[in-house]
Amino acid sequence: MTGTQIVRGACPHDCPDTCALRITVHDGRAIKVQGNPDHPTTHGALCTKVSRYAERTYHAQRVLHPLRRVGRKGEGRLVRVGWDEALDEVAVRLRKIAAREPQAILPYSYAGTMGLLQGESMDRRFFHKLGASLLDRTICSSAGGEALAATYGAKVGMHVEHYAESRLILIWGSNSIGSNLHFWTYAQAAKRDGARLVCIDPRKTETADKCHQHIALLPGTDGALALGVMHELIAHDWLDHDYIERHTSGWPLLRERALAWSPERVAAVCGVTAEEVRQLARDYGNTRPAAIRVNYGMQRVRGGGNAMRLIAILPCLVGAWRHRAGGLLLSSSGSYPVDRQALQRPDLLGGRRPRTINMSTIGDDLLREAGDRLPDGTVFGPKIEALVVYNSNPVAVAPQSAKVVRGFEREDLFTVVLEHFLTDTADHADIVLPATTQLEHLDVHGSYGHTSVLLNEPAIAPLGEARPNTQIFRELAARLGFDEPCFGDSDEVIARMAFGGAVSFDALRERGWMQLPRVEAPFAEGGFPTPNGRCLIDAPGLGVPDFVANYESVQSAPELAQRYPLAMISPPARNFLNSSFVNVESLRDIEGEPVLEIHADDAAVRGLADGQMARAFNARGSSVFRLRVCAQARPGVVNGLGIWWRKFGTDGTNVNELTHQQLTDIGRAPSFYDCLVEVEAA
Ligand code: SF4
Repeated sequence: MTGTQIVRGACPHDCPDTCALRITVHDGRAIKVQGNPDHPTTHGALCTKVSRYAERTYHAQRVLHPLRRVGRKGEGRLVRVGWDEALDEVAVRLRKIAAREPQAILPYSYAGTMGLLQGESMDRRFFHKLGASLLDRTICSSAGGEALAATYGAKVGMHVEHYAESRLILIWGSNSIGSNLHFWTYAQAAKRDGARLVCIDPRKTETADKCHQHIALLPGTDGALALGVMHELIAHDWLDHDYIERHTSGWPLLRERALAWSPERVAAVCGVTAEEVRQLARDYGNTRPAAIRVNYGMQRVRGGGNAMRLIAILPCLVGAWRHRAGGLLLSSSGSYPVDRQALQRPDLLGGRRPRTINMSTIGDDLLREAGDRLPDGTVFGPKIEALVVYNSNPVAVAPQSAKVVRGFEREDLFTVVLEHFLTDTADHADIVLPATTQLEHLDVHGSYGHTSVLLNEPAIAPLGEARPNTQIFRELAARLGFDEPCFGDSDEVIARMAFGGAVSFDALRERGWMQLPRVEAPFAEGGFPTPNGRCLIDAPGLGVPDFVANYESVQSAPELAQRYPLAMISPPARNFLNSSFVNVESLRDIEGEPVLEIHADDAAVRGLADGQMARAFNARGSSVFRLRVCAQARPGVVNGLGIWWRKFGTDGTNVNELTHQQLTDIGRAPSFYDCLVEVEAA
């Protein structure tokens, strides 16, 4: 194409904002990626990371041709091969394994793109037809997500624009400026209008800095804080009895439990003052409309699911839902009528019921032998012989890296990676297949932070020999002789079926985005999408929520804490999004080096100084960081900012060298922020 065109797109990254993009293309080259000013929540602004999307797309180290490994696993020595050669080899290897035991093949993907086409369509059809092991996609959000759905009936909540009208906003477990920028715009508008903003987070983030109050609780104690707030709401009768009576079920049981959580008890567990608990409850019990924006950071601990349930119950106790600017938002993804049966075609399994492997325990599972007995007493099944990784970088992001790396290093494991770059994971691949970026393919998107549907039109031709994931799996299906008509669906056909009849693809094409029909104050009169229409305080199978202590904390594991006395969380560095963008030089230059934040008191007792190299360690491993002695860290907690690629790390590791594979109470998710370490000079 010659001349200048503007193409409409959608940000593909794992972020609640799902921005509408406006891509300027000149003579077939993308020269600018901007926010679409017409889309209400994007309102023309993108974060720093995605403003550099063109730099990422045209990066000199883009993988532009299929590659085959010639070096050791992990070494990243690969040579160029043709597409036919690469796909033939993958097809032959997978067919051979599948003929014996298809469950020995495991797909591994997450939210490297959130697009419904490139993330969960032809790929799923392919693995369903193959009969491969199923993947439990838990790595980020399933503790909070399942907890919310158990309480409200679905992942639904307030509309983000309405936060601008709130009078009190609790920003709970979220660095909104870094990870939910467009919500922050509304929170700022509310603040300018006189609203009070309270940030609840172990780390003094840039968001905490800009709120009126920061409650720096210990990691994993959010559930106790919510119980303490309930205690005060009961004690002072700041409850909306009518709302509780008509729109919740199970309150009397939780009421009894909450009465045991005096502010003093909460203060001791959370590492805050009793007055902070009292004031939080006073503010929450007496301000209308009061809104909570909770994000996934706080649920990455053993009790993350229970904590999420307790927080989700709070707006019902004070009747916050009566106002459109009151209530809570964790995720809006349950608002979308996505037709996953049509997209993913689970019917292709026929009568087969493959086992499910949890992506968060990939470190252990790659090292298991056939028939190993699992901790829950069940049998593992066949050994994993082939792994197909796409939209994910598990060697960097999965917990307990030492085990993950050992698994990926197995010479008897056949690993295929669809990627843009030679990530830590691609370095371990037998075959790397070049995937297109968001500028080069078609996709459709929902969101988990707003409720519009977005279309992403391809803006430029694929670079080099890159192909969309859909095309790669379509071609593999053909090689394996899968002849169901669905394997012939074009991307446009899939895009048209993604939302069933609920969204007109043609209308989407005209504007680039569409607002789903919505109710302004969704639960003002109850009507939760649960079987009885009430908020389920006493949820079937889960009972009434309670505080669940961390696996690893000074209080719950005192012996361990004698050796490793510091709690560590690993929130994202401002300029990275999980492990995406770490290889974009202009962003990595801003971050500099892997940083560990530590409070001055904790540094002083260890004789550590700001700026020196320090080693954080525990029984699982160690990683070297540049130490930042600062107020961002509270006493007793260190913040290891992530997620660096291991090969860009100071000593070839990253923060996940320290994390473990134990799972959350609800949702089978990893507990990344439930981790004890000690720190010494490197
Ligand atoms: S990462 Fe989030 S804030 Fe940044 S452009 Fe994408 S959706 Fe918008």
